[in-house]
Amino acid sequence: MINVAIDGPAGAGKSTIAKACARELGFIYVDTGALYRAVALNALRKGVLNDEKGIVEMLKETTVELKFDETHSQRVFLNGEDVSDLIRTPEISMGASNVSKIPQVREFLLELQRSIARENNVIMDGRDIATVVLPNANVKIFLFASPECRAERRYKELIEKGESVTYDEVLADVNARDYQDSHREIAPLKPTKDSVMADTSLLTLDESIKLIKSIIKGDK
Ligand code: C5P
Repeated sequence: MINVAIDGPAGAGKSTIAKACARELGFIYVDTGALYRAVALNALRKGVLNDEKGIVEMLKETTVELKFDETHSQRVFLNGEDVSDLIRTPEISMGASNVSKIPQVREFLLELQRSIARENNVIMDGRDIATVVLPNANVKIFLFASPECRAERRYKELIEKGESVTYDEVLADVNARDYQDSHREIAPLKPTKDSVMADTSLLTLDESIKLIKSIIKGDK
């Protein structure tokens, strides 16, 4: 199986770029952030989002699954319910960053990610795919862009979806999540020695997709 790991901060374009590359290459695209988001949604529903012990306890009665439809699109299921659309809110973004600091949560989601990569050609995106989940991935890419560029993109996305947010709020959220994701003790966001660094700050989406495809194919 061919495994491609793409790690990077929130809003660098990982999911859009990885999805497009996966479609063209006939690979499955796995968005691992959705798993942490599903755990955060469950914690929010159970009223334990800020209670680490409560979250660890909650895991005993939590199932998270990924399913892929015929177009290879991913759906995430929490206790059997398709929550793919419910997890895309700023509250759940920050919640996911909070639950992802807990070692038991990371452990809980690890085998699910590895098993999908064992059985499929995948492009898997997240924060610790190259460092922890798939250290033997065939290709490792660290995809990033400046915080301002990423906030601008995410702001536009949220406004298009009808969310009422300001650019400054989105930038603050990007900075807070960057800090939290790269400074946590367990599985912090960072490239590996053999990661290819890809900066998308000055690239259009099409240019970014071309760049990543060429890295995967070994042209770069
Ligand atoms: O990628 P996305 O923004 O959906 O991820 C939400 C949060 O989940 C991230 O801010 C990060 O804290 C956490 N995450 C993680 N490890 C991954 C994927 C996501 O810790 N592999």
